[in-house]
Amino acid sequence: ACQAPPTGPIETTKCDYETVESVNKDLHANLKALVRTPFFRYIQVDLYRECPFWNVPGSCRDIQCAITTIDESEVPERWRAAALSKIEPSSVDRLHKLPGCYYRDSDFCFLDDNTEGEYYDLTLVPERFTGYAGPSAHSVWKAIYEENCFGLTELNLMSAKSPSLSSLSDTMAEPFHEPDAETGNSEQCLEKRVYYKVVSGLHASISTHICAEWLNQTTGEWSPNLQCFIQRVASHPERLRYIYFNLVLLLRAVARLDPYLSSYDYCSTGTHEEDQETLKRLENIIYIAGVAGKFDETVLFRGENANILKDEFKMHFRNVTRIMDCTGCDKCRLWGKVQTTGIATALKILFELDEAALDPRRNPNLLQRYEVVALFNTLNRFSESLEAVEDFRRMWAAMDESE
Ligand code: FAD
Repeated sequence: ACQAPPTGPIETTKCDYETVESVNKDLHANLKALVRTPFFRYIQVDLYRECPFWNVPGSCRDIQCAITTIDESEVPERWRAAALSKIEPSSVDRLHKLPGCYYRDSDFCFLDDNTEGEYYDLTLVPERFTGYAGPSAHSVWKAIYEENCFGLTELNLMSAKSPSLSSLSDTMAEPFHEPDAETGNSEQCLEKRVYYKVVSGLHASISTHICAEWLNQTTGEWSPNLQCFIQRVASHPERLRYIYFNLVLLLRAVARLDPYLSSYDYCSTGTHEEDQETLKRLENIIYIAGVAGKFDETVLFRGENANILKDEFKMHFRNVTRIMDCTGCDKCRLWGKVQTTGIATALKILFELDEAALDPRRNPNLLQRYEVVALFNTLNRFSESLEAVEDFRRMWAAMDESE
């Protein structure tokens, strides 16, 4: 995986790796600029909700885990809680008002109304090495992979999760297993595999960021750590493939959302130039999404038990967004929340909303600002991961030559 990019079709999509490779540089340049604009950089999140599943044993005290809030006065007035609550109905009202029956249950995300919590400037919080590791981090990943247990909905969630705290000793060396592709003929297996790819791809993308901006704790220097990347990602080529998979899924959601995004009001947040920059970057990204966002959502949730399966999928992914509150490191929790919300928003767009619901004239308040911001920041993270993978490939090639 370090030597050459994967080739050929990406599973469950109508896209190939070569297409993603060919657009990613351009995509990333546009995303990088977009997420620096006022609309996309400021976010209000309640980072200190109680973990609903177990007692979080002490947070990461490493200075790298700490996070700086910003004062509300730094956020353009239009995007402060008081102003937003006037233009955005609460998520419950919002979903009840949609044509058809889109209730709050249709969300793949446990969505806060985001009128509580502190404000953050995402450009000031890089996703990189924080030192958060060990039993606490492992238990969060373990719980997330265990949500792949479809067919167990009748189990009480709390008891299903109940603190395997005794098993929180640092012994989780065994890898999480992908649902058996051999028996993948049944629909259930396809959806299970999609769930696994989404989660494993997110995990691999976070690991790539950690390795790309690694802190050498002896020298205090930040630099890419090739060994870290080989060990966590490249030696498991499927993990790298799932980063591409997530990128295509997110791009497809952006492409589907084109009319809605094109009529969304991002303006009045900065200067005229900044507003123009936001619109220009968005237009470019939506165009690229049309080229490379070929995820085929029509192959999922078909057949007899489609609705039951979809409900289960939703419930499990919603739990993942809640599990984020169990992450014992503030910076990691912020990015965990943003990215699981971004993916949940994409899943909702792909699997829950039909053309009528996506029509901006019928549903101008379809998405909360928080969801739009999360969707694009998540897309940026995955695109950035693929850029980092390029750098690791170059480091690997240089090392190879010098040997
Ligand atoms: P982990 O990454 O903790 O993985 C645990 C086990 O999962 C591994 O032993 C392996 O068997 C399996 N595994 C690993 N990757 C995959 C994959 N892609 N697919 C399937 N199985 C896999 N740390 C930071 O330094 N900065 C951050 O920003 C950060 N954000 C985080 C956000 C969240 C939500 C969580 C839960 C953790 C975060 N962490 C962060 C911690 C980080 O993810 C690791 O847990 C930590 O670096 C310890 O790594 P590890 O090598 O022990 O394995």
